[in-house]
Formats: sequence, C-alpha cells, structure tokens
Amino acid sequence: MLVRYFGGIAVHLGFDIDGVIANFSLPLIERIRRDYGVVVKESDIYCYDLNVVFGITKAEETKLVEDILIDNLPLYDGAKETLEQLNKEGHSIYLLTGRWGHLREATEMWLKENGVHYTELHLLDVGKKYQANVAPLDVIVEDSLGEAIEWSGKVKNILIYDHPWNKTLNVRGLTKRVYCWSDIYHEIQQLQASRNR
Ligand SMILES: [Mg+2]
Repeated sequence: MLVRYFGGIAVHLGFDIDGVIANFSLPLIERIRRDYGVVVKESDIYCYDLNVVFGITKAEETKLVEDILIDNLPLYDGAKETLEQLNKEGHSIYLLTGRWGHLREATEMWLKENGVHYTELHLLDVGKKYQANVAPLDVIVEDSLGEAIEWSGKVKNILIYDHPWNKTLNVRGLTKRVYCWSDIYHEIQQLQASRNR
C-alpha cells in the first residue's frame, strides 16, 4: 500500500551502515598506524578485502574489524540529519548490515547514542544481504559493490557510496554513484518526483 505524506509517496529505503552511515575507514587507518606502525590513506584501501589490502591473515582481519565495530564510529557528514528528515517524511528506513549477529546490542546502542533514525535493523550474512527478509525496497545505498549488485532485479535504484574500494567499470549500469548524503537525499527526491508524475 502506498502511504501519502505532504503530497509525496513514502518509500522503502535500505541503507548499509559501515561505509555509508558510519565512517569505518578513519578508525581503521588510525588502528593500522597504531598496531602495525604503517601510515595509510583512504585511497590505499583499493578493495573490500582488508586482509588483501593490508597483507594480514583473515583471523587478524576479523579481530581488527571487530575491535573497530565495538568502538564509537564517527558518522559521515549529513547522515544523521538526512535520516532524520527521511524519517520525518514518513519513509521506512531499513538498516541492512553485514555486522555479526553478536554485535546487535552494541550496534543498537551506537545507533541510539548517535541519534540515528531507523525503522528496522537487520544483521545479515555477508555476501547474501540481498536475501534479507524485508519489505520490497525502492532504494539501496551500499559501499560494497558485491552486495549492491546482487540486489539488481529486486531493487531498481542501487546507489553506491563512492570510496576507493568500490570502483567499477559498471558496464551494465546497475548502480549509480553518490558522493555524499545530499546526493542520496537528492536521488530519493528524484525518485519521488518520478512516482508523482
Ligand atoms: Mg558497508
């Protein structure tokens, strides 16, 4: 059922957390400097597999990622305000993260402490987020190309939050690149405008 608000149509929006709402790379860079004594830039993180990027084992990568996730990750500029606005406009906000199930409580706490508005939080298997049991989504915002592309066929508007680790030749045009939260908001407004026509 379509829900109308302020003359617009409420839509179902899916957002990844890390790399979209939460800035994971900033604390990651800091930890690499502290733990391994190596100074890296965000542009050095050329792919999604951190074990490959840094030359560490999978076990080290898991420990590194978990340590960072239980820390208070900073938000990307405009994330909180945009989600608040989208929530106010009546849209449903589904947070679809590949964080491990045992991090649910820490994630909920982090969302609360940072005032992040959302409708539902789903902790999903990495690589299989597209199998999430959620309402049909109108938009997906992801930083993982691998996850994002699998949504094609199910979700029409797939937005990739631009980072060095998600470059693609995009030969099928399945995804659209966004660079900041005002881009995301703009895309959602465009979608609504096309629905209202
Ligand atoms: Mg992510």
